[in-house]
Amino acid sequence: MSKSARGRTPLSARFLITYAVAYVVLIVLMGLFADRAASGALLDNLTASLEQGARLATESLPEHEAELSGWAEAVSEAGGFRVTLIEADGEVIADSHSDPAVMENHADRPEIVSATRGEVGVATRVSASTGFEQLYVAIPSDGSRVVRTSLPTRVIDEELSAVRYSLLGVAGVAGLLGVVVVGFIARRLARPITELTEQSLAVVEGNLDVEPRRSQVRELDQLGLAISSMASDLGKRVTDTERAMEYLQVVLRALPQGTILIDGEDNIAYANPAAHELIGPVPGELSGLSPYQCQMVIREARETGARVERVMDRDKPARRLRAAATPFDDDDLILLVVVDITDQERVDQIRRDFVANASHELKTPVTTIIASTDALRIAVERDDESAIRFAAQIESSARQLDGLVADLLDLSRLEKEKPDLQPVRLDLLALDEVERIRDEAEAKGLSLDLSADEVVVSGSHRDLSIAVRNLLDNATRYTSEGGWIEVAVFADETSGVVEVRDNGDGIPTRDLDRVFERFYRVDVGRSRTTGGTGLGLSIVRHVCVSHGGSVELESELGVGSTFALRLPLQTA
Ligand code: ADP
Repeated sequence: MSKSARGRTPLSARFLITYAVAYVVLIVLMGLFADRAASGALLDNLTASLEQGARLATESLPEHEAELSGWAEAVSEAGGFRVTLIEADGEVIADSHSDPAVMENHADRPEIVSATRGEVGVATRVSASTGFEQLYVAIPSDGSRVVRTSLPTRVIDEELSAVRYSLLGVAGVAGLLGVVVVGFIARRLARPITELTEQSLAVVEGNLDVEPRRSQVRELDQLGLAISSMASDLGKRVTDTERAMEYLQVVLRALPQGTILIDGEDNIAYANPAAHELIGPVPGELSGLSPYQCQMVIREARETGARVERVMDRDKPARRLRAAATPFDDDDLILLVVVDITDQERVDQIRRDFVANASHELKTPVTTIIASTDALRIAVERDDESAIRFAAQIESSARQLDGLVADLLDLSRLEKEKPDLQPVRLDLLALDEVERIRDEAEAKGLSLDLSADEVVVSGSHRDLSIAVRNLLDNATRYTSEGGWIEVAVFADETSGVVEVRDNGDGIPTRDLDRVFERFYRVDVGRSRTTGGTGLGLSIVRHVCVSHGGSVELESELGVGSTFALRLPLQTA
């Protein structure tokens, strides 16, 4: 039972109290009415009896005066009432209960007045001679006399009291029976109501699986159905809400953006896992939030009521973050969304660098071509022998431009497309590329050897050829006359390997990591004069990574370099 129910009357008690009050009022009213009616009827009855008695007495009136006293006593005894004989002038001449000599004149008594007029006189008053209230009935007898009969009215009360007692007894028994019946009905009505109340309380406590409680009483039956349908409706809503919350949780947990909700009291109401990853442990209150700029954007958004966005740094680990605080108009909530833009900024920087580098790389041969073209024109006009040199310069720059454009196109295609993976015989591919460069290498006085095991990898023949060609091209360009180049193809447990070894210039240790960057060269002049674009090794690395492989480099300045491509073996 709830607290508020304490001190309230139970339904059954209310029924009983109401019934008891109504019953008592009804019984009292009915009793009064019946009492009045009964006493009226008894009075009428008594009056008629006394009148009858008076008439009988009149008929037996003796002729002689001396017999009147005996007559009165005999009549009184026979009728059980008092009898009085009165002259028309009011003088009492005989009375069954008193001596007529001492009785006063009755001429003024109302019943006597009526009887002397020839009517039946009836009156009720306290008798002067007996001291009790009496009912008097007087009738005229032979000519001038009046015979009066009377009885004390308490006779009526005596008769009534017996009736009253029995009526009271009946009313009491009926009342008790009523209490039992009403109590029974009240309990029968109260029980389902109590059960429905318990059911409703169970719903309040979260038990929404409610069987409808049917009842023979229509209103209670409807109430039971209403409670069960309300509970099931509530259950559906709760389930829907819980599911929506689950979905929301899943979404928020999966979001890469840090999402933090701040309430009107500057408490942190919610923070998703990404928020903890991006800005470190999220505290319970705004004042503990770091980086401090996060607090600033939230406060600014609260003050301005508008979305505020700011880029900021986070130490340990160093990250660039973009935080946006959005206020909600209706409640004082602020949503802070934090995004890690470190990679994006790096990519943007790489792209900017690439555009700048590519423009620069393109501009150099173009400038040379323009300048050489002018010089060539003048030399031709003068019929100067230097014309041949300028033409050669133009050709060289044009080839450099051609190589650069070809590498840029390769790089752009490789970045755009995923390699079309097929089984590739790595040994045959290496053989083709070695033979392709052999003339150039031998013209430079380099020895070129290949030792190849039969190895099948999964890859794009075209892309892998480009990678191996770039390595052989570099080895030829960066190895001085009389040097050697050795190519080996073999397999270990998981990879097919192409190894290109030379005893060329080698690469300084500090540059080993950077030679794979776009446009990075150890010696820019050497690279250009040998027709390099600065893109060869970045193409090689791109091909390896996109094939799920890797490229390894070992090199020592002045000793030589070894590049090894590792590619996933073709599985059956
Ligand atoms: P490039 O077109 O300049 O050769 P790459 O990307 O192919 O550009 O190579 C980057 C740099 O790495 C080259 O400029 C060169 O300095 C160095 N390099 C590459 N291969 C070799 C090698 N086999 N021996 C020595 N240096 C090399």
